[in-house]
Amino acid sequence: MSRAYLAELVCPHCGGSRSFVKNTTGNKAGDRILRRRECAACKDRFTTVELIPSQEAVAVLDKLCAGLRRLRSLMPRVGR
Ligand SMILES: [Zn+2]
Repeated sequence: MSRAYLAELVCPHCGGSRSFVKNTTGNKAGDRILRRRECAACKDRFTTVELIPSQEAVAVLDKLCAGLRRLRSLMPRVGR
């Protein structure tokens, strides 16, 4: 896996940004990982699902991002 898409992980109960992984399991297809977490602040437990994008999905996202960057460079500046 060459790339990782990261998102900030916050507790759904108190909004705390620190949590500990208690348990990790993957599904049979191997394209997602389930993690059982415990919030460092309120001790509440919640589950996160991490999706592992396929190589095709990563290629599509790369093309999309490149297209958007090109589009933005062609647009006139707004508000000046
Ligand atoms: Zn919390």
